[in-house]
Amino acid sequence: MTKIFEYLKGLTLWELLKGLRLTSSYLFSRKVTVQYPEEKTPQSSRFRGLHALRRYPNGEERCIACKLCEAVCPALAISIESEQREDGTRRTTKYEIDLTKCIFCGFCEESCPVDSIVETRHFEYHGEKRGDLLMTKDDLLAVGDRMEAQIARDRQQESDYR
Ligand code: SF4
Ligand code: SF4
Repeated sequence: MTKIFEYLKGLTLWELLKGLRLTSSYLFSRKVTVQYPEEKTPQSSRFRGLHALRRYPNGEERCIACKLCEAVCPALAISIESEQREDGTRRTTKYEIDLTKCIFCGFCEESCPVDSIVETRHFEYHGEKRGDLLMTKDDLLAVGDRMEAQIARDRQQESDYR
């Protein structure tokens, strides 16, 4: 009996009809495909994209070279060297992030006591060779300068949520 049933199913292309029914049920449903890059999906204010180093409004670097971010980074992607200034404050002489190692976990951002290293919403970047994805201190400060308005807005929004 089962064999006859299977034979009839094969003869009437039953499985094909089942597939076509599923396909046609999606023909008139709401489309969910996003036409990137013309269309973008909504982004959270906590989006973890390209890193940036921030400054205070007077232009001074926030980073105090405590190296907490370097210590906490699970991918060993951050490399810092520092020295003491004449006024006794400590600042980095080298701050690098190797984006080929980074796993965008956000630990560096969370560990920073002065809100210096942050991950921005910027994700549309690329490198054509390995060195292109080694972010130097100047690169990171430049990203911070360029995106400070949005970074500050996102931080404010997060503190409003708390
Ligand atoms: S996001 Fe995570 S992996 Fe990337 S640099 Fe920061 S701590 Fe390291
Ligand atoms: S970015 Fe923040 S956590 Fe990292 S060394 Fe500077 S002050 Fe310390």
